[in-house]
Amino acid sequence: MRDRTLNAATLMTARPRGEEWRRRLIEHPRAITVLHFLMRHSPFGEVFDGVKTHVPAVTLTYDDGPNPPHTQAVLDVLNRHGVRATFFMIGRNIASHPDAAREVVARGHAAGNHSYWHSPLVLRTPSFVRAQIAATDALLRSLGANGEIHFRSPYGRHLFAVAFVLARQKRKSILGHVGGDDWMTQDPDCIAQRVVARVTPGAIILLHDGGGPRDGTAVATGLIIEQLRRRGYAFVSIDELLALDRTHAGPHTR
Ligand SMILES: [Zn+2]
Repeated sequence: MRDRTLNAATLMTARPRGEEWRRRLIEHPRAITVLHFLMRHSPFGEVFDGVKTHVPAVTLTYDDGPNPPHTQAVLDVLNRHGVRATFFMIGRNIASHPDAAREVVARGHAAGNHSYWHSPLVLRTPSFVRAQIAATDALLRSLGANGEIHFRSPYGRHLFAVAFVLARQKRKSILGHVGGDDWMTQDPDCIAQRVVARVTPGAIILLHDGGGPRDGTAVATGLIIEQLRRRGYAFVSIDELLALDRTHAGPHTR
């Protein structure tokens, strides 16, 4: 318990060591294959990168914020269309931009936890992972987040300690398998086209309000909503989407 408190406090000022080799590991082509296999055969925890349903419903998620003024630009588009999304926020960004994070919560969107430092969590100890999650949870709660706070691992790697810690806390790991690659391009048509072409019922759409200028993502958000609604899709919150899952009883990915 003492360790946990100490780690949570220390995280505020000390960037974790070993970030570079972890990033090289998770980006290595052979490691990616192995990591994906292990993620899909995790002995514990519930992992969702979409839900199994025939209902034409999807949910929007945004990573790496808050990132003013781009987070607010995305919020304005969502507001215009009456859509509730999930923002997986990085703890240190919440600490830097508490007003933007507060606005996400106040506007009725789900506040997700994306760790404190956004350091790869591969081959970390459970106490390290627990502290990353706890420090960010505490910030989100202080800004008014209620209910279950979902977690998304940095770089979508939720292996070993992450899966273990989340299972112990009875929390879900939320990934996303329909990305707009908006970390590579900020061309709104390109982002929207990539998402719309890949969406199926139950999709968790992954975009970014953080990590750089995101004007393209904000515009693409409107295009995605308009185009998918024309195809009969409904935009629901993450919890509404999870409730549609036909195999809710156990861990799975798809
Ligand atoms: Zn991220």
